[in-house]
Amino acid sequence: MSDDQLSAEQRDARYVMHPLTDARANLQSGSLLMERGEGVYVFDNAGNRYIEAMAGLWSVGLGFSEQRLVDAAIKQLNRLPYYHAFSQKGHNPMVDLAEKLVGMAPVPMSKVFFTNSGSEANDTVVKMLWYRSNALGETQRKKFIGRKKGYHGITVASGSLTGLPVNHRSFDLPLPGFLHVSTPHHWREAQPGEGEEAFATRLATELEELILKEGPETIAAFIGEPVMGAGGVIAPPATYWEKIQAVLSKYGILLIADEVICGFGRTGNMFGCETFGIKPDIMVLSKQLSSSYQPISAILLNERVFEPIADETHTIGTFGHGFTGGGHPVAAAVALENLNILEERNIVGHVRDIAPALQEGLRTLSDHPLVGEVRGLGLIAAVELVTDKGAKSSRHPAGALGKRAAAILQNKGVISRAAGDALTFCPPMIVEKDQIDAILTALHSALDETAKEML
Ligand code: PMP
Repeated sequence: MSDDQLSAEQRDARYVMHPLTDARANLQSGSLLMERGEGVYVFDNAGNRYIEAMAGLWSVGLGFSEQRLVDAAIKQLNRLPYYHAFSQKGHNPMVDLAEKLVGMAPVPMSKVFFTNSGSEANDTVVKMLWYRSNALGETQRKKFIGRKKGYHGITVASGSLTGLPVNHRSFDLPLPGFLHVSTPHHWREAQPGEGEEAFATRLATELEELILKEGPETIAAFIGEPVMGAGGVIAPPATYWEKIQAVLSKYGILLIADEVICGFGRTGNMFGCETFGIKPDIMVLSKQLSSSYQPISAILLNERVFEPIADETHTIGTFGHGFTGGGHPVAAAVALENLNILEERNIVGHVRDIAPALQEGLRTLSDHPLVGEVRGLGLIAAVELVTDKGAKSSRHPAGALGKRAAAILQNKGVISRAAGDALTFCPPMIVEKDQIDAILTALHSALDETAKEML
């Protein structure tokens, strides 16, 4: 058949290789193609409406039709559609955004380095800290510690920081020198009778033992998301971050907070670091930074990180790393407008006000025979499905329950995401009570149908 007789979905199957997708399945059916967006809703090519209960990829904070972001992009496109930041050049939107971010940071930060995606940002952080160690003459300090189920991206270094098997398998990752400690998931990982604080103490001890085994002088940094996102929305147990930070400071190890999902209001504070009392040396920002209207990410560095790097660039004559599109003026202008809107409309306050509707609403599902755990805070949550509540397990292959429930829920007009057997929810932060109620009603009925098929 010639292309003009084919539907867009058929042409998708013919021409597109999708990320995070079974390519053979896509050859059969193509993908669900979205045509337009309005508030928390997206509409597919057939005109079906969905509540985007994942804000795309945890990212469209202000929803799918914020005219001011569009206007900011057009204005900047008309004035200066592109300029770069290499070799002591730049442009005003980048400077304005950097100043804004340093001002917003919950701990003293000194400089901002701009990149285009979360993965690029985390890859850049790895290279920056290798460079810093060399600058300090600490040439052995090159290892990174992440967590199992942590997600930091998929490029070669960021994919190594990530602790999810699916991002490693068949890619020959992680690289050597990238280590992973246990997931801070109390419900699944704690021993019988072990309280949250005792569990947190055990994880801090595990971290300390790993540092001692490897040699503290070989560890560049520890990286963590304040709340794990793609690993299944895992909020840390009480006292976790305070105990982890005590170990890191005892050995002088830097802390990187990956705020790519948590940043800009998601947990009910501007940053996840504020919610958990985290005092990082580096913060990685993306996604809700621009509500994903433009690709952009930012790395905030404190003086302790920046100073040795600055010395080395002066010795060498340059910092031999950067991206053509890093800090793109259109993306920076959109991000700046996005941050202005967050503040003007007190979106963080709205998240706090509306969060109980989502969190308490989801917890009313705890008694459902398929629900093992409901977890989350602010406007980020997960419902983990099991067939055996006592054993916290499923009699189906891992991920099958989650995948089926997500598909049924999608047919009811709600887009969630399956992280294994956990259904995750992260709606645009502008979501209203009636829309949360609609998500809950659809979810309840989707779980009933899934239970009929799979329990
Ligand atoms: N860090 C975190 C915490 C993320 O959730 C993600 C993306 N889901 C990334 C990094 C990678 O971002 P990107 O997909 O833009 O490379």
